Amino acid sequence: MQVLDRIFKELAGIDPSRLSEPVLVGVTLKPNQTAIGELPAELRPFMLLKLDYEARITLIEETAEAEIAAIDSREQADKRAKELANEHAVLATIYDAIGKLFWAEVRLTIPAATGQPCIGIAENWQVYSEDKELCPHCGIKHPSMLLDLADLPPGPSSPLEALDALLRP
Ligand SMILES: [Zn+2]
Repeated sequence: MQVLDRIFKELAGIDPSRLSEPVLVGVTLKPNQTAIGELPAELRPFMLLKLDYEARITLIEETAEAEIAAIDSREQADKRAKELANEHAVLATIYDAIGKLFWAEVRLTIPAATGQPCIGIAENWQVYSEDKELCPHCGIKHPSMLLDLADLPPGPSSPLEALDALLRP
């Protein structure tokens, strides 16, 4: 069981001092998001591992091209490109598994999150639920959100113009 073994091992390797450090600083709740609890201490290493994987994957994506371009030998460059592509694929596969397990744990650990279609984590380890029906900027349901843009009559070039035409008396 390569994936689970690796996840358990890496969870055990998370530095406990990080559990009380601020994370996701600046990720505040939007008007359509509601705080439903705090991420329990037992799940914090899981989230930190998920963030670590995100950082590792992003690092490869951002540096691979320059690293390979700096290699003089064509053969060595090809070899390194294959290594990086493989490393990226492995990380992405495990990251996907971590994400699924993490959200499943959050959903079952925090009663208010069970059955919520959309949940997330904001700063200070806040768990939130998100209402996709509400405007993320205002937290209300705008008249325009009640309409299916596909139903609008053809004519104006952009959906916004079409909407404007429809709402105008
Ligand atoms: Zn709005």
